[in-house]
Amino acid sequence: MSELRGALIGCGFFARNQMHAWDDIPGVSIVAICDRDEARLAEMGESFAVEARYRDAATMLREVRPDFVDIATTAPSHRALVELAASLQIPAICQKPIAPTIDDARAMVDACEAAGVRLMIHENFRWQSPIQAVRRVLDSGEIGAPFFGRVSFRSAYDVYAGQPYLAEGERFIIEDLGIHALDIARFLFGDVARITARTARVNPRIRGEDVATMLLDHEAGFPSVVDCSYATRLETERFPQTLVEIDGAAGTIRLDEGYRLTVTGPNGTRHEDVSPPLLPWASRPWHNIQESVALIQHHWVETLRAGAEPATSGRDNLKTFALVEAAYRSAASGATLDPSEV
Ligand code: NAD
Repeated sequence: MSELRGALIGCGFFARNQMHAWDDIPGVSIVAICDRDEARLAEMGESFAVEARYRDAATMLREVRPDFVDIATTAPSHRALVELAASLQIPAICQKPIAPTIDDARAMVDACEAAGVRLMIHENFRWQSPIQAVRRVLDSGEIGAPFFGRVSFRSAYDVYAGQPYLAEGERFIIEDLGIHALDIARFLFGDVARITARTARVNPRIRGEDVATMLLDHEAGFPSVVDCSYATRLETERFPQTLVEIDGAAGTIRLDEGYRLTVTGPNGTRHEDVSPPLLPWASRPWHNIQESVALIQHHWVETLRAGAEPATSGRDNLKTFALVEAAYRSAASGATLDPSEV
């Protein structure tokens, strides 16, 4: 098995998780890193012993010619960087949200497909082991055909401390966090024919919305509710847990606080602790997300080696991103929208 040589662009807040996860994958090494910010570049280079450090992504990719590039910058730079990778025939992973606009997102996917270059969006929440556990029960048929779903993320965690840009954008929770919950809804219940959304801003110190409530009509013929909030003060802070409810004709699934899975089926009720493992480099409460980073990056390596399409390919992620765009438009107009028409 030949060594895969990767390069990272963006040495910010979240990229450390990606670097730790690459470190853990046998047969992969990050041979070069890039950031426009000298201090961040130096810090990441020292932490992970990467000697090849660049301020300019094009120079790095042309000189290093990696087997893949991991783009961990924020959305405004994604289109230019993905198109750069496509032009150099370098398979790319790009962090979510794929782009600032749906037009940019489509252009990126088209550019990669035209160049025959793999693109995976780092949409990691569906890889969280508690969410994978829910999917396994659903697939087993134990609760019968679902007729209701709910994907819920409600918290008052201070996300702005680590990611100050989240307080500054015109759009916030649907684009940053709701995008993950919408992707989980697609992963569990299938694609969406129509979406209705309502939003609110409760925290007066931020610019965008910090509360969103969305009703999805799935093509499979039943609805789900996707709700998220960063303005919800609870007795126990749940960050960053996503809770799930599914009602089926023969039973129910509940993923509750504390990673407690409850399945009620024809033979009664059972409980399971589906807590994610605490990886050696991870820290609570982020360990759930950190484990999903490791799992999605494993998936990338497997699919890259096999020449297969990743689950959250650019093409797949356009459907999740269309839900984000449709949700904003629905909240603005009050209308129910078909996401394929945005
Ligand atoms: P950040 O601002 O802390 O880091 C981004 C870094 O990219 C900065 O150091 C910046 O200098 C660098 N950069 C930007 N444009 C560049 C360019 N053209 N060339 C080189 N360097 C460039 O941001 P962050 O909080 O780490 O977020 C990065 C991305 O990760 C965002 O898209 C965010 O939504 C996403 N994110 C994902 C998860 C998840 O669970 N999947 C969690 C947190 C953040």
